[in-house]
Amino acid sequence: MNVDVYIASPRGFCAGVDLAVDIVDLAIQQYGKPVYVKHQIVHNPKVVADVESKGAITVEQVSEVPEGAVVVFSAHGSPPSDYETAANRNLTVLDATCPLVTRVHNEAKKYTREGKKIVLVGHGGHQEVIGTTGQAEMELVDERQEWQLPNWGKETEVAVLTQTTLSVHDTAVAVEKIRQKHPDAVIRNDICYATTNRQSAATELADQTEVVLVIGAQNSSNCNRLKDVAINKGVPAYLINGPEELDPSWIEGVTKIGITSGASTPEAQVQAVIESIAPNNIFRVGPGEEKTIFAIPRNLREMVGEGKRRNPETKKDMTTDENN
Ligand code: SF4
Repeated sequence: MNVDVYIASPRGFCAGVDLAVDIVDLAIQQYGKPVYVKHQIVHNPKVVADVESKGAITVEQVSEVPEGAVVVFSAHGSPPSDYETAANRNLTVLDATCPLVTRVHNEAKKYTREGKKIVLVGHGGHQEVIGTTGQAEMELVDERQEWQLPNWGKETEVAVLTQTTLSVHDTAVAVEKIRQKHPDAVIRNDICYATTNRQSAATELADQTEVVLVIGAQNSSNCNRLKDVAINKGVPAYLINGPEELDPSWIEGVTKIGITSGASTPEAQVQAVIESIAPNNIFRVGPGEEKTIFAIPRNLREMVGEGKRRNPETKKDMTTDENN
């Protein structure tokens, strides 16, 4: 039977993940082992294992880092209390927060200064939300659950921020509901370019295939949203780390398989799944690869010296039809 794979473009590592992994690499080159990482540097066990094999030690709390050590704060962002704990423990902090998450932190502080009430659309307990809610007082709206805004008066000025990795569709629905109550609310669309582009490609995949495989980790927010995109279009979708988790019954009798991966998934995991399927053809689907690269922030450049960055991941597909 002819089996074709339709592969999403873009997929995999975003500029924020590339930057965070590079900062850990450079920190180890500059300071030597071990370098501590507060929270998984990105939500992918293979990436975490890789940086740990080079000399990183992942901890969940800053208080676990030995006094005077070097610590990298993960791409998801951290609350101010983590920086205070680090200062009290005399730690050298290299902040790998994605610049697009930092932008949300800055928005939270700005709107608070302006006297606005802030609503954050996001998922309680997610590391990014822990970091963002620490920046200012705000009301969290989890668009997956029943929620209600507090009974703020009509004159209340409201600003709406969002977690960067949410479902574009579900967030728009939640924002519309907030707007009905507060028509003048300032709406910031903080869902990042990488999330938006990957969901757009996943939508096209779901239109053209019978099953969608999302390659990545169960605790990755943006991987889960890619799976949701396909399921919401009525296409079965599964989130797996690699070929070892691929249940053959999911693709039995299927001739068109869609494959995508989240912003924290290394390309090697995707290629391993494709090799295990051994398709007759591979077609590329979606808006195409991104060229975004985040520079090492100036303050970190001084700290990590002149070490060389890895090459950003490239996704050279063995596509058999460039027009697809
Ligand atoms: S998914 Fe978006 S916000 Fe998160 S690290 Fe990547 S670019 Fe930054």
